Amino acid sequence: MDIRELRGCSEDELIEICKEISLKRFRASQLFQWVQQKAVRTWEEMKNIGGRDRQTLCSRLSFYPLEKVREQRSKDGTRKYLFRLNDGETIECVLMDYARTGSRDRHTVCVSTQVGCAVGCAFCATGLEGFRRNLSVAEIVGQVLDITYYVRREDPDFLVTNIVFMGMGEPLLNYDQVLQAILLLNHRQGQNIGMRRMTISTCGVVPRIIQLAKDNPQVGLAVSLHTARDEVRNDLIPMNRRYPLGRLMAACREYTQITHRRITFEVALTAGNVKQEEAEALARLLKGQFGHVNLIPVNPVAGTGMERPDPELMRRFARVLEDAGISVSSREERGAEIDAACGQLRQQWEGELK
Ligand code: SAH
Ligand code: SF4
Repeated sequence: MDIRELRGCSEDELIEICKEISLKRFRASQLFQWVQQKAVRTWEEMKNIGGRDRQTLCSRLSFYPLEKVREQRSKDGTRKYLFRLNDGETIECVLMDYARTGSRDRHTVCVSTQVGCAVGCAFCATGLEGFRRNLSVAEIVGQVLDITYYVRREDPDFLVTNIVFMGMGEPLLNYDQVLQAILLLNHRQGQNIGMRRMTISTCGVVPRIIQLAKDNPQVGLAVSLHTARDEVRNDLIPMNRRYPLGRLMAACREYTQITHRRITFEVALTAGNVKQEEAEALARLLKGQFGHVNLIPVNPVAGTGMERPDPELMRRFARVLEDAGISVSSREERGAEIDAACGQLRQQWEGELK
């Protein structure tokens, strides 16, 4: 018989399963709430579902919470988790904005979508490791649920308010699972996180950008641009050879036409590219595009040879863009001292095991 992952099931799927095993329809709603809203990690915690019914449900539904291997906390409140999946693979997940004064109600989780990544960007710890596998819907949603579970043990009222798909992996190369996870996280009887509070980050998978605009025009989009020059981008992000900047920017224009949403363009600055001519090239590329540029100092990853930029040069870089009429912000680095760049914790942990 077909066994489904409990955390990846929609309420309708649970209703269907309950029907098949002759359980009352309301059991499905109870089950959905225990899992998706209360974030329980065991069948035993589902107090209003009797032992017999739980056993019947077990025959059709698998339930694998993520195992917390490591948790690191930085002074700014960022928490980084290393979770082990049922098959032994590990993924990272970061909670940001936790208990920061001024934004006390914003708790953002940075979620992984794949184990490893096939794109292989030159600056990225995940890319260096290569691709292992896609995450299931249950594993994507599970990161938010398990973080909620662990934080609630200290702070019972804790709620995740924002999600960014900026952890390990390329979300648009695990498209169906990511979209299904978004629907579950958005569900009113679940985490109830607004569509507009979730952002998918992509290195530029052109056909999927357009498909996303049509399938879910509410969810936010961030594009990892990093440079305005194809010859540089080809080396940084190998995907650029398949979808060069001309095609990427055309897809971005189409995306905005359909969704009327502003795209965030991520630009990681290094000691090597924080230059006036780079900024000017970016300003030309983004002219007329409804977007916002987010400048991030690169997080140096062992083996990539990238170095952090000088903060004053970063400010100058931002000014060139502002003077060209482009909206720009500089992301202050979060959790740098806990290796919060994508894939670094896993890299460090696997290194220790070797
Ligand atoms: N694959 C998607 C989402 C995951 S990566 C993407 O590439 O957009 C999330 C973000 O982290 C991307 O903008 C990526 O370029 C950036 N990133 C990866 N390694 C980094 C590093 N060492 N320093 C700064 N940003 C990094
Ligand atoms: Fe993959 Fe994104 Fe890392 Fe590039 S930056 S290797 S696309 S996870």
